[in-house]
Amino acid sequence: SPFAALGLLAPFVRAVAQEGYEAPTPIQSQAIPHVIQGRDLLGCAQTGTGKTAAFVLPILQRLAERPRNGKIRCLILAPTRELAAQIGERASAYGRHVGLRQTVIYGGVGQRNQEIALKQKPDILIATPGRLLDLIQQGFVSLDGVEIFVLDEADRMLDMGFIHDVRKVVKLVPTKRQTLFFSATMPRDIADLAQSILIDPVRVSV
Ligand code: AMP
Repeated sequence: SPFAALGLLAPFVRAVAQEGYEAPTPIQSQAIPHVIQGRDLLGCAQTGTGKTAAFVLPILQRLAERPRNGKIRCLILAPTRELAAQIGERASAYGRHVGLRQTVIYGGVGQRNQEIALKQKPDILIATPGRLLDLIQQGFVSLDGVEIFVLDEADRMLDMGFIHDVRKVVKLVPTKRQTLFFSATMPRDIADLAQSILIDPVRVSV
């Protein structure tokens, strides 16, 4: 399989085959081997390029390498409820052969079900910034075990006025971590944010 050639292991090669994917997209070919190795990544890519699989597959593989520890080990920030839900849905599909847990949280709906879901000790938390900060402040979420931090659609975070919240979240994740940063465009503010949170990133532009 061309996915195995990128370094993906059997459970993930099987999952993508079940999705009907025959070959990796350009961003997947360029990103997956480096993310598996633990590198930081700066990805300039729009939705529709296959960017979700480009980060979710190698992240799942890294997390599955070590036993669950009851902490949130991967935090994925997304600007909208729709995108967060879609990432969660893709992560379930790609992770169907490994036993990792995930929770999706976003604003605009009641908080109670999200509090209950967080008690199930997810390995992966997919969140919009405002609701995440609310739940952190109320003690329902701790980010001190985060090993991998993903910022998706960073330019939309800026457009929607979330950049201040994003910076607050960044301060709450451990500095020793892997960081993946995606944006369709790279205006100055976004390039500065990327520069401040990434270490020696691989750059991929599609
Ligand atoms: P994304 O850019 O992550 O939103 O993905 C766009 C769409 O492409 C999603 O519906 C994915 O299921 C699909 N997709 C992702 N990777 C592949 C692939 N390698 N082959 C075919 N479809 C894919």
